[in-house]
Amino acid sequence: TNVYKVLIIGAGPIGIACALECKKRNWHYVVLEKGALTNSLFNYPKNMTFFSTSEKLEIDDIPFISNNPKPNRDEALEYYRRVATSNELNIRLYEEVMTIKKLEDNFVVTSSKTKYHVNKVIIASGFYDIPTLLNVPGEDLPKVTHYYNEAHPYAMQDVVVVGASNSSVDAALEIWRKGGNVTMVIRGSEIGERVKYWVRPDIINRIKEGSIKAYYNSEVVEIVDTEITIKTPDGKITLPNDFVVALTGYSPNFEFLINSGIKLSNDKARLPQYDPDTMETNILGLYLAGVICGGMETHKWFIENSRIHAKIIIEHIETLSTKKI
Ligand code: FAD
Repeated sequence: TNVYKVLIIGAGPIGIACALECKKRNWHYVVLEKGALTNSLFNYPKNMTFFSTSEKLEIDDIPFISNNPKPNRDEALEYYRRVATSNELNIRLYEEVMTIKKLEDNFVVTSSKTKYHVNKVIIASGFYDIPTLLNVPGEDLPKVTHYYNEAHPYAMQDVVVVGASNSSVDAALEIWRKGGNVTMVIRGSEIGERVKYWVRPDIINRIKEGSIKAYYNSEVVEIVDTEITIKTPDGKITLPNDFVVALTGYSPNFEFLINSGIKLSNDKARLPQYDPDTMETNILGLYLAGVICGGMETHKWFIENSRIHAKIIIEHIETLSTKKI
């Protein structure tokens, strides 16, 4: 009974967009999602604001109305949830895809619950599940996190925020405003260039006035229960420390892509191989959609510029189906 024309992996914004395109054509499709609906967005910081305006996050031109110049996490969750429920999309939550096996002209997809036989597979699995580790002793202590949720637990505590991109800067500012004693450890020589243009001056001024301390060209070398050691250009220093919020990026599940037969580029970017005109990978019938396409260059794709993948893929599958008839 688990036979489908299209199986979509991941119910993020782009997986949902793919499902809408299938639904419009009355195709037999299913979306498998290992977590909650839009699981990545669900795990974003509670008070995050998108850098995109709401119309740029819309899928299939379904209006996304926000009360703010830029929507926040709750509004985005509401929007994608309503799109999924009001269109009665066929999404199975808390079901992880473990393997994709290509047979002669179909696929066997094995999930944490069962097996599926499908004609086409779309991987829209994003990149928010695997954090880039610091690889230092003490990283596994419970006081270290790679996901920031909200500031309250860090009030009146000595907190190190690692990184200087949007997530780190938002976390550092918020924790400082809620009474945390924040030190930033930054590998480069400045606050990231891609930090939201209205936030960048805020963090730079807080650092300049000394409210938030920052060590540039520096790296964490060791974390212990009550302290942290940092390598700075002036030598190693040890600071009292209660929490480490290490927001040093995330990467796609390359092992899953390789095990599915997808080739990756040999350079640092590890770009999965696909045809940008159709989004089909080197495995015929297996497609990539959304931010998973960027390999290590996770900043290149976002909802704004990857929502188009859904239509490209489904139109390609449609053309192939008509040709066969
Ligand atoms: P995701 O949303 O990551 O969805 C992938 C889904 O696949 C997840 O739900 C995951 O649980 C699921 N999954 C993974 N592996 C499996 C498996 N094996 N089996 C089943 N399910 C699986 N983009 C913008 O356009 N504008 C913004 O303003 C913006 N702000 C951002 C702010 C932050 C803090 C972050 C982190 C990102 C931001 N982005 C923004 C990027 C945007 O959120 C992502 O581009 C978007 O989530 C990508 O959608 P996606 O559907 O490709 O992937």
